Amino acid sequence: MRTSAAGIFAIGECAEHDGVVCGLVAPALAMAEVAAEAILGGPARYAPKPTAAALKVAGIGVWSAGAIAPPQAETILLRDDGSGTYRRLWLRHGRAVGAVLVGDTADAPFFLDLVAAECDVAHRRHTVLFGSAFQEAA
Ligand SMILES: Cc1cc2nc3c(=O)[nH]c(=O)nc-3n(C[C@H](O)[C@H](O)[C@H](O)COP(=O)(O)OP(=O)(O)OC[C@H]3O[C@@H](n4cnc5c(N)ncnc54)[C@H](O)[C@@H]3O)c2cc1C
Repeated sequence: MRTSAAGIFAIGECAEHDGVVCGLVAPALAMAEVAAEAILGGPARYAPKPTAAALKVAGIGVWSAGAIAPPQAETILLRDDGSGTYRRLWLRHGRAVGAVLVGDTADAPFFLDLVAAECDVAHRRHTVLFGSAFQEAA
């Protein structure tokens, strides 16, 4: 988007916004929309949204969304070495701001909803990492 150099716009991995360089396609496409509108003289502003990334590392599912280990956040962790499950959530003032899943990543949509909406999970912090099935059953 608009850079400090007159007439030069930047998107994707060559654009640093608020000190952050995004390494994913989705934010680059969102930046492209803002750049196009700005070039046409519109009032568009880029507002980063929580993004999710899913990878397979050595055959193991790895998924993350939102802010990972951000400052002034607390974290809750579920780790079961027997089943190869690792789930971690970062909370700020009781609200979900970031998540990592390793192993079983089937619940990624549930955690993405929590992070995208910055849901208040303070009242269910003892159960939230068990995922969607447990929330529905509880
Ligand atoms: C192995 C790997 C897997 C990934 N998997 C995912 C994924 O699953 N999901 C996801 O969202 N993102 C993924 N990414 C990240 C994603 O590919 C990048 O965030 C995205 O491609 C960045 O887009 P970009 O247009 O900023 O840069 P690029 O896609 O790198 O495009 C830059 C272009 O500029 C060209 N270029 C460079 N220098 C010059 C020059 N001097 N003159 C002219 N042209 C030049 C390059 O050849 C290139 O075509 C992955 C990246 C890697 C490396």
